[in-house]
Order: sequence, then structure tokens, then C-alpha cells
Amino acid sequence: MSDSLLYIVSTPIGNLGDITPRALEVLRRVDVIAAEDTRHSRRLMNHFGIDTPLIPCHDFNERQQAQSIIHRMCQGGSVALISDAGTPLISDPGFFLVRSVREAGFTVVPVPGACAFVAALSVSGLPTDRFCFEGFLPAKGAARRKRLESLATFPATWGVYESPHRIMELMTDLVAVIGPERYIAVAREITKTFETVLVGTVAEVLVTMSEDSNQQRGEFVVLVEGYKESAADIIVPQVSKMLVRLLEDLPIKKAAAIVSDLTGVRKKDLYELGMQIRCGD
Ligand code: SAM
Repeated sequence: MSDSLLYIVSTPIGNLGDITPRALEVLRRVDVIAAEDTRHSRRLMNHFGIDTPLIPCHDFNERQQAQSIIHRMCQGGSVALISDAGTPLISDPGFFLVRSVREAGFTVVPVPGACAFVAALSVSGLPTDRFCFEGFLPAKGAARRKRLESLATFPATWGVYESPHRIMELMTDLVAVIGPERYIAVAREITKTFETVLVGTVAEVLVTMSEDSNQQRGEFVVLVEGYKESAADIIVPQVSKMLVRLLEDLPIKKAAAIVSDLTGVRKKDLYELGMQIRCGD
């Protein structure tokens, strides 16, 4: 295939049956496939009997590789970009390459397919008329909380990608920042054997996940219902925040009593919330 095109090709996020016939055809016919991790992608290509040469294109060499790919395209070559899973550029490398190839005057062609965020959104039951993809939150506590705080009043569905070792921390942060009552969907291992989509209030989903450690394993997309302005929405995040802070120094009973005195929220409800927060620690 010598047509000087760059194809952005989606690959499966678990179930290999999700590769499209068009993706296979393009991957077979291009001169070279730029892959985030060539060893990982070689296994995928072997599975489909594709022997197109692979070159690495990841966060650490994307700038150099963009120049060499443009050079190849100047000579009439065609290239496909793939990532380890799903759609390239969606929390994956490729932005710099696409921008550079376009600036060099070449056409970039999408070969669409799986994307974990869109798959999760489509089954979540949360509004899809408007939504915001936030990618991965910052890894460190304070920066994570700050980003979540900036999303707390976003008026449409929003969502993030999360890894298994930070999922419970995220759930606890959600209780603290947006309160226990907001609707969320936690989609886990989409298209894989242990696919699960938990839907409910933050508190309900947190309890389910705390009670079953299997629900803390795998890859996650966490979606959150948009903010709807009401008196409860204004009060609850502040109350939760106060409780989370006091729980750092006090037993649940004492922390719940103080927050109840200060806010008028029922002690029993605060105690339950305190238990949920502690379970998620
Ligand atoms: N480009 C990919 C896409 O189109 O979805 C996303 C790549 S990003 C580096 C990987 C993250 O996507 C994972 O940490 C997880 O949050 C999410 N993810 C990928 N596959 C998933 C799956 N099968 N189920 C749930 N989340 C998944």
C-alpha cells in the first residue's frame, strides 16, 4: 500500500473479536506499523497472521519517530499507528505524530474501533448527550483531589480511566469531593471474562467494591453523573469533606458527632458514611 497515508487504527481492549475487518486489512497492507509496544503488538499481529514490520512509537521517541514517519511518507510509504489497546491518542501516544503528519500536508485516516471510555459510557445508563473525558487523574493525592474538585460541579457526565492500585483511593476521594449520593458507573474489564458494570450512588458502589475484593481488580473506567444544582448537592460535598478530615484524627463515632453538631446532618447518616470511607481506606 503506497499511498502516503497515516492510518490511526483501533485495536481490541480485551476481546480479540472486536478487531474490525477493515483494521485487519489496513494493518496487512501498510508498509509499516508504528506501535506503542512492539513486543505486545507482535503477539496481536501473530494472532491475526499479520507480518507487517513494526516500529516503536511511544511517549519517549514520538518526536524522532514522527520525522522518520514523515520521511517515509514523502517517499510514498503508508503507515498505521496502533497502541497497546483501544484507540490510539485516547490516553495513549500519537498526538504529536498526527499533528506533525498533518502539518507536513499528509492525510490522516481513522480506522475506528474499541475505546474503553465510549464502551463504558454506552452501557452506563448515565446521560450521553454531553460528556467529558478526563483521562487519568494525576497520580498524587493533592493534585488528584484538586482535579476532582474542579470536576465536582461539571454539569454533564464525566469520567476517568483508573488502575486497580488506585481505584479504592479514587472511590474514597469521590465520596469526599462529590458526596455519597451522586450516581456513578464503574466499568471493569470491559469485553473480558470478568466484565462488570456497577451502577448506583457513590456510597452504594463503594460498599459493593469494599465487600468484594475481586471488584477492585482489573482495568477501570469510572463515570460520574453531572452536577445538578440543589440545596443537598451544595451541602453534602462540604459535609463529606469535613468528615473525611476529622476521620484522619478521630474515631468514626466522635467525628460523626462533631460534624452532626456543626451541620445538623443526622449523626446516624454521618456514621454510615464514616464507615464507608474507612472501608475504602
Ligand atoms: N486507548 C485506550 C482506549 O481507547 O480506551 C486507553 C488506553 S489507557 C493507557 C488504558 C486505560 O484504559 C486503563 O488503565 C483503563 O482505565 C482503561 N481501559 C482499557 N481497557 C479497558 C477495559 N477492557 N475495561 C475497562 N477499562 C479499560
